[in-house]
Amino acid sequence: MKITSNIFQVGGQEESHSSDASIYLIADRGEVALVDSGTGLGHNKLMENIQKLGIAPGSIKYLFLTHCHYDHTGGAYKLRKATGCKIIAHKLDAVYIEEGDNDVTAASWYGTFMEKTPVDIKVETKEAEFIIGSLQIRFYHTPGHSPGSSVLSAVSDGKLVLFGQDVHGPLNESLLSNRKEYVDSLEFLLSLEADILCEGHFGVYYDKDVVSDFIGSFL
Ligand SMILES: [Zn+2]
Ligand SMILES: [Zn+2]
Repeated sequence: MKITSNIFQVGGQEESHSSDASIYLIADRGEVALVDSGTGLGHNKLMENIQKLGIAPGSIKYLFLTHCHYDHTGGAYKLRKATGCKIIAHKLDAVYIEEGDNDVTAASWYGTFMEKTPVDIKVETKEAEFIIGSLQIRFYHTPGHSPGSSVLSAVSDGKLVLFGQDVHGPLNESLLSNRKEYVDSLEFLLSLEADILCEGHFGVYYDKDVVSDFIGSFL
């Protein structure tokens, strides 16, 4: 599914596997990044969807993991092996991805396990920037749903696109959620005034007002 001329949805509940959170692809001038990996149960379908866009797996430079949860990260190990991409996550969640912690990643909720997956670049700051072609990808640490939850943004076709993923939460003790941090992060997301929100489970929201209503509804 095309979202802008640089951004596509290539995986998710309908697109790759029923347990997968949404997987987005960012492409510009021959460079490609993915936002989240899904569970890996739909790996072959995901690779097919990427190739249908005319994208060679080897051109995938980065795999951003918005947080450690299995429905967003379980497939990262296979993707890194298949494409040679570098995995990027905030350091506070990277630890659970690297250790393969089945509780904090919620793999145990799915009756499975989290593969111990190397995180090549661990973001330690509140904000960071990565480049894909001519696009600047902003990485923001927005804790609450999990300690290292993060969002990404990029401007494409003149629109500010926010990859918010689990904007909706939930908050749960075993996921090490923090209500105060979550509220602060939602307020920060509102302040970005994004034109398009790519969410992890609820699809894509278009227009500033619709995006802010959706984010605001969780405050
Ligand atoms: Zn989550
Ligand atoms: Zn999720």
